[in-house]
Amino acid sequence: MVKIKADQAIYSFSPGNKPVATIKPGEIAIFETKDCFSNQIESEDQLFESADWSTINPATGPLAVEGASKGDVLVVDILDIETAKFGVMTAVADMGAIPHLLDGSETKIVSIEGGWAKFNEELKFPVKPMVGVIGTAPAEGDIPCGTPGKHGGNMDTKEIRKGTRLYLPVWQEGGLLAIGDLHALQADGEVLFCGVEVAGRVTVKADLLKNTDLSTPILETEDFFYVIGSAEDLDEAAKVVMEWTHAFLKQRLPLTNNEVGMLMSLVCDLQISQIVDPLITCRMAIPKNAFSPYKISLGERE
Ligand code: CA
Ligand code: CA
Repeated sequence: MVKIKADQAIYSFSPGNKPVATIKPGEIAIFETKDCFSNQIESEDQLFESADWSTINPATGPLAVEGASKGDVLVVDILDIETAKFGVMTAVADMGAIPHLLDGSETKIVSIEGGWAKFNEELKFPVKPMVGVIGTAPAEGDIPCGTPGKHGGNMDTKEIRKGTRLYLPVWQEGGLLAIGDLHALQADGEVLFCGVEVAGRVTVKADLLKNTDLSTPILETEDFFYVIGSAEDLDEAAKVVMEWTHAFLKQRLPLTNNEVGMLMSLVCDLQISQIVDPLITCRMAIPKNAFSPYKISLGERE
């Protein structure tokens, strides 16, 4: 089993990144991760503005999967997510979706104990650990780890959690998987630009689907497929996930374009993952049981 230390970090998903470890398809890897501040904020005296921004949004890796090449799909099973004992939340004066409602910048340390995140003396919440940043090297160019896209990246999608399977397009040899930015808890929208940001460890199994066309990340949970897409604004992000969902269903169902659209309108919820990153991320939920006579899947595993 391969273990990748948190200091083996990238700050951009890039075709030029060299793999720090390699596994065979179907093998397990552990990614130790820093939080999105590179663990620089450890007390409530430290504001976001005091952090060294050049190391914001690290992702651990990249990991190469032997045999992965352009046109394949990386199948990443999230086997486990462990978090540190405390997480960080930051209100930042001019960031997030509601800066005009804030009283300036503030840092809150949230202790995590026994499966609960303690917000204050009165409020605590069960943790729902999730992966904020996970992706492959893109077709071309460097994409900062704070930006989501067709390669994955900073999708901040709360459904990417233990027990789920993420399908990511491969453009470069080995795929070059990197993971970071865990949240102990985050709501849809991520309106203040943070969840409970936390360091930790993610255990994954990475496998391959050879020669499988995929336009964008798709997440599979026990009950849903989620088509995940990002764009400049909320309208465009919604539109791209609807278009990809329509194409995904049309390829797999013996139904007309109109019928597929009707079914999307009936049973596929359009959801907002986050509205605060450089691109906005939406997802469309495809309930497996609604389509059970057709046994929708992404393709046969090699
Ligand atoms: Ca994030
Ligand atoms: Ca984050």
